[in-house]
Amino acid sequence: MSGTALVVGGGFAGLEAAIYLRQAGLEVTLVSDRAFLWIYPTSIWVVTGEGKFDDTCLDLADVAARHGFTFRKGKVESVAGARRAVVVDGRELTADHLVIAIGGTPMRPPGVEHTFGLSGSPESTVRLHEALERRIAAGGGRIAMGFGGNPKDPSAVRGGPVFEVMFNVANMLRKRGVREKFQLAFFAPMPSPGERMGKKAVAAIQKMLGEMGVEMRFGKKITGFEPGGAVTFEDGSRLESDLTVFVPAQSGHPMLVASDLPRNEAGFVTIDGGCAVPGFPGVWAVGDSAALQGPAWRAKQGHLAEVMSRVAASNIRATVEGRPERESYLPHVSITCLMDMGNGAALVHRTEAKEQMIPLPVVGHWMKKGWGAYFKASKRKQVPRLPGM
Ligand SMILES: Cc1cc2nc3c(=O)[nH]c(=O)nc-3n(C[C@H](O)[C@H](O)[C@H](O)COP(=O)(O)OP(=O)(O)OC[C@H]3O[C@@H](n4cnc5c(N)ncnc54)[C@H](O)[C@@H]3O)c2cc1C
Repeated sequence: MSGTALVVGGGFAGLEAAIYLRQAGLEVTLVSDRAFLWIYPTSIWVVTGEGKFDDTCLDLADVAARHGFTFRKGKVESVAGARRAVVVDGRELTADHLVIAIGGTPMRPPGVEHTFGLSGSPESTVRLHEALERRIAAGGGRIAMGFGGNPKDPSAVRGGPVFEVMFNVANMLRKRGVREKFQLAFFAPMPSPGERMGKKAVAAIQKMLGEMGVEMRFGKKITGFEPGGAVTFEDGSRLESDLTVFVPAQSGHPMLVASDLPRNEAGFVTIDGGCAVPGFPGVWAVGDSAALQGPAWRAKQGHLAEVMSRVAASNIRATVEGRPERESYLPHVSITCLMDMGNGAALVHRTEAKEQMIPLPVVGHWMKKGWGAYFKASKRKQVPRLPGM
């Protein structure tokens, strides 16, 4: 089959799209501003020092060579959807099919620079690890962790990893014999944070936070952060903190907001069920860049990003071959998360039909570690892909 595809963004969505488009026989170029894919799900262990920076990176040039597509490191500066064109480091690139996969951008509430994040640059996760070590060396203190929402698109909230990091940090402090020297607090503006994962998950998470002695401040709108880390709330109250971890909800990538592509109110690119951008033939958007449709509890996740990319690749193939069939990601919208606690995990799975939360003490932690190893090896073609993973 002939045809060219240009995939922008080398995260979960972009890499999966490049692999599947290449398998479909297209000539594929993947452009990303980092030389590696940052494996966010396993980056939680960089915070505690259990994982190293390099363990969490997948070299994109290496993967590209193994799959036979071209990887180009570069920053996409603008997108012109009508011409299926992007400008990369001053040079325009075009293709028969343009796949947008550059993720979203974390929102910036006032004073967010006084906090440590998990969802932006990989370097910020390393800075958090170093700050945590400094605090332990200083003999203790107050640690607050929380996440924010985006009322314009609630699917762009990112709370699961913050719970995971809180559980892992509490577990690490206990193992190092210094837990009683720290006050831990969790904050979120929603009255019931984590609700998207289902009622069982929320109840279990709150029970665990309580058992770990973590103070909970829920249901208060966050107004900002002060130098040093204190969190301020709309009702005038404060949460004192010496080290604050905050993961804002996402909004649309500024470059897409400045483009000609249609977007929802939060700035995510509008797509149909087949990941095509309506009115822009040959333009597709996948993963966190796209405006997700589906049930009210839907959430942007890495596994769903990969599903969307496989759907888009299949539909691009059908388009190139002149076939009318189209796949849709909508039947696959689910929340699937192996929520790690450092000494075990819980498997959270939510679909329209059911809500599950299966505790997996001890073994769950090693399952998540195993997933990380499988992710890298399977993308490098060192082990076969398992169906749906
Ligand atoms: C700490 C953490 C833990 C998580 N854990 C899980 C989990 O356990 N399970 C799960 O399913 N999901 C998890 N998620 C969510 C998941 O990581 C995201 O949904 C997923 O990364 C989305 O993939 P994406 O490719 O759409 O976007 P991204 O991963 O954000 O990738 C976008 C890529 O585009 C690149 N890029 C951005 N701008 C430009 C530009 N101008 N030019 C060129 N390249 C650009 C970026 O460098 C990046 O490589 C987690 C998220 C975080 C933050």
